[in-house]
Amino acid sequence: MRRRTFLKDAARAALAFPLARSGVAGLLHGKRVAFGGIQIECSTYSRIRARMEDFIVQRGEDLARDPFFAPLKAYPYPFLPVLLATAVPGGPVDRQAYEELKLEFLHRLKALLPLDGLFLPLHGAMYVEGIQDAEGDWISATREVVGKDCLITASFDLHGNLSRRVIDNVDMLSAYRTAPHIDREETLRRACDMLVHCLNLQVRPTMIWAPIPVLMPGERSSTLYEPAKRLWAQLPGMNAEPGVLDASLLVGYVWADEPRATASAVLTGTKPDLLRHDALALAQQYWDARKEFKFGVPTGTLSECIDQAQRLGTKPVVISDSGDNPTGGGTGDRAEVLAELLRHNVQNAVIAGIADRPATEACYRAGVGATLPLSIGGTLDPQGSQPVSVTAKVIFLSSTDNPAERETVIEVRGVTVVLTARRRPFHEIRDFSSLRLDPANFKIVVVKAGYLVPEIAKIANPNLMALTDGAINQDIEHLPKSRYRVPSYPFDPDLQWKPFAIVSARSPQPRRSKRSIHGE
Ligand SMILES: [Zn+2]
Repeated sequence: MRRRTFLKDAARAALAFPLARSGVAGLLHGKRVAFGGIQIECSTYSRIRARMEDFIVQRGEDLARDPFFAPLKAYPYPFLPVLLATAVPGGPVDRQAYEELKLEFLHRLKALLPLDGLFLPLHGAMYVEGIQDAEGDWISATREVVGKDCLITASFDLHGNLSRRVIDNVDMLSAYRTAPHIDREETLRRACDMLVHCLNLQVRPTMIWAPIPVLMPGERSSTLYEPAKRLWAQLPGMNAEPGVLDASLLVGYVWADEPRATASAVLTGTKPDLLRHDALALAQQYWDARKEFKFGVPTGTLSECIDQAQRLGTKPVVISDSGDNPTGGGTGDRAEVLAELLRHNVQNAVIAGIADRPATEACYRAGVGATLPLSIGGTLDPQGSQPVSVTAKVIFLSSTDNPAERETVIEVRGVTVVLTARRRPFHEIRDFSSLRLDPANFKIVVVKAGYLVPEIAKIANPNLMALTDGAINQDIEHLPKSRYRVPSYPFDPDLQWKPFAIVSARSPQPRRSKRSIHGE
């Protein structure tokens, strides 16, 4: 029903704003669409760099076969794979790696021209050494290659940052509506449904962006809890309004010292006045709720969380080592939790995991059953944390030919520790079971995470969030002084603000109502 309403509305709008290239091909056939991009979330407060070897790069048919993109096969035109580079969140991207990836992406894109449409599955919080607004750089370079007539749709993470450059170079955008992110596929479909509908009807939509000067960590803005729960719950209803193709609300990424780091409301559709109304309403509501954002679970220092876990008669108590969470940009090499568990003389605890390649390799050399002295932690960012010296027994070694994939389970005075050669999260049960560990059997389970993903959240009895130090320290009010961030809450607690809407440069510009649309 929604689709029919949209089609009628879009057909009307198409009469008003036909694409420049209205003579090209007919409806429903002959269109050329491609997809690809780059996805990483980068804390500017991290001292490590994302280098080429940290990216998984899928090209051509390898990308087309990725099950995540299987829904693209249902569209009436083939979606041609370009290149997709993805990496575990972390520090800024090494400039040379970025330039090489961008060059190859653009080169492959050129080979697919002419294109009627392009889908960019991005994250939105990439930071590249020496470049402000890295997604803006990637998207504007892409626009130059595909030309002005190609429609570009983008999907963003809920924690992506928008900018004028991003908005002005795409035609439509959709962001995740859940944190934890359980709607990745739905977001892909929304982004691509819009594109295909606009191509079918040869209509260029309007995009209206309302930046909101509020920055919250994801851990204080999960859509499972208020106020995010009610703010995001409105989006499907807004999306169902005739003339709205997508309604998105983004938390933004707080650990990015960039002017574009803010929350955003962004609406795409064919009725500019309605889009503007909805964008301003969302922005105002978000602003009004700014003081309500709180952690959804009990928090404390590491020591407080361990004390509380020991007092509780339940298990497993899952403690989030939130400052070193590699899925939020943390380094993942810190061992303070191990030191603290040993200091508390905790028995029956598991830490999953600590990225430490030298210690992992030492365990592989020693073999299962061996006891050896180890220095654990601080190998990726020696300035960030202190290593812990222990005597460990090797319990398990994962079987792999690739040294970078090695993982080992060791035991240190009653504490089980997972060591990994590379940075990686342990957020799902299978991450444990592949190492023959059952988290339910432990009294305390420590994961390097912020909010828990549903599988681990289900077994947590309960979850406590340790506000630990790291590249994504949750104590955002005391982050190092920013150079580029615009005045925003909570950094400027007394900030006065009124919402305003920005119409993207590619939106069809109505001749008379321009002032009212800008509405500043
Ligand atoms: Zn996210």
